[in-house]
Amino acid sequence: MTGRLLMFWDYDTQWGTDADRARGLPGSAASGAREFECTDRLLELHARFGVTACFAVVGAAALPGERPYHDPGQIRRIHQAGHEVASHAFQHEWLPALRPAALDQTLRRSRTAIEECIGAPVTSFVPPYNQPFDYPAGLSFSRSERRQVRHGRIDVPALCRALDRNGYTFCRVAYRPVHLRLADRVRGRRVDGPVRVERIGGVTCCRLNSAGGFAADAVSLVERAAREGGIAVVYGHPHSLGAGNSQDERWLVPFLARVQALESAGRLRSVRPRELVQEDRAA
Ligand SMILES: [Zn+2]
Repeated sequence: MTGRLLMFWDYDTQWGTDADRARGLPGSAASGAREFECTDRLLELHARFGVTACFAVVGAAALPGERPYHDPGQIRRIHQAGHEVASHAFQHEWLPALRPAALDQTLRRSRTAIEECIGAPVTSFVPPYNQPFDYPAGLSFSRSERRQVRHGRIDVPALCRALDRNGYTFCRVAYRPVHLRLADRVRGRRVDGPVRVERIGGVTCCRLNSAGGFAADAVSLVERAAREGGIAVVYGHPHSLGAGNSQDERWLVPFLARVQALESAGRLRSVRPRELVQEDRAA
């Protein structure tokens, strides 16, 4: 049985840093600028280990202009290196509070900006902040989203329907069923396993089943996918490459080496979201 790895880089740039600040979230003022040099380094590492990824890019960064807000040339290089370029909204908006027209607008503007930049279709989406989280049909309830947005809240199905009508076919979703959250609490660590794609609102979705980063828990998830089949979904931020946390290069390099070994043994395949969509639609 061959497992699959879906590896994402959330490319926030200064738009993400500014959006964090506007929401009162702590963050390093320099992280927007670091995105670019770290992405150059990532492209080298991915090429060295032969591992394919998906870079979820804030659409405004693909417009002409200077760093730390724009670098269309780098986004083209990501595409030319064979990685998928997905949309990460237009300016890293917090989606649960958007009105439907504003949601359509950020989905459309980001897709158009990136497509004009790379000259290829953009069909995958990664929501900023991994939200919305609220998805009652998936037994996932977000008290904070419900508290913060009283009326007309965008939940996971509403986001997926908007993606579908704006030409997207894939979404990384981050809802977590209540039984997994209870298991986390009982065992005192995050409990999860390989996933399969699912359809929500007409879109092929893959649920994030790791906490972010490339430390021991991400390695064991990938090894489980190689053993049992299914998909391991991992992600990081380019700007965290030297941050000292689990997204740091000192965890990433051994992670990529392990993935390379499993790939050459034929037990794992790093795939792009659009390949999972093709399989899902052909099934
Ligand atoms: Zn982000």
